[in-house]
Amino acid sequence: MDIQESLLKFTKDIPDNVTLVAVSKTKPIESILEAYKTGQRDFGENKVQELQQKHPKLPSDIRWHMIGHLQTNKVKYIGHFVHMIHAVDSLKLLLEINKQAKKANRKINVLLQFHIANEESKFGFTMQRFKEEIDIGNLIQLENIVFRGVMGMATYTNDTEIIRNEFRVLKEIFTKLHSEYFTHDTFDVISMGMSQDYKIAVEEGSTMVRIGSSIFGERNYKK
Ligand SMILES: *Cc1c(COP(=O)(O)O)cnc(C)c1O
Repeated sequence: MDIQESLLKFTKDIPDNVTLVAVSKTKPIESILEAYKTGQRDFGENKVQELQQKHPKLPSDIRWHMIGHLQTNKVKYIGHFVHMIHAVDSLKLLLEINKQAKKANRKINVLLQFHIANEESKFGFTMQRFKEEIDIGNLIQLENIVFRGVMGMATYTNDTEIIRNEFRVLKEIFTKLHSEYFTHDTFDVISMGMSQDYKIAVEEGSTMVRIGSSIFGERNYKK
């Protein structure tokens, strides 16, 4: 299947209320343009430098999602154009995103990343650390941030029950945050599901899936 066929398949597969973010990391401009021509507008990258290089070469109505771990000192390179930042897991990073958004006189959509996998290497808040680090007083001051929801990555495993349970946990976290901290209507994003596990994610309430290799083909990191 080529890029356009895969995209068509996904738009049919995924319910209307679920946003498809096409993860274009490591892929060339031409591939992104091919996807763009089918009407795809949400694209995800996980490296600041790559995102920074691709953005000026592509149509300005693309909504760029920064889906990877973001270092505080790099927010300044993407703050003037990035549409949504998915992997936010510290107050320090929130403060910097707010600062850069303010500088650019715009608002940036943010998702809070939660650690749901049973792997140590993955980033993200736990509910406990979130409560310790973040209080509502901090958040109100962040006028240039729009808190849109949560993001999480399941354990890399073939055991679908493990994956399903982790997605359930993220949905529960979202519901709790929505009722206790972020009661506004635009807190409406649960970003979960990748090529391997998006079907389970959608069944468990995902509203945003991040699909890379199933659209653009396998990535070759050795190049
Ligand atoms: C690469 C990446 C994806 C997409 O992964 P695929 O398996 O290629 O669909 C999704 N989310 C994040 C955070 C990623 O880094």
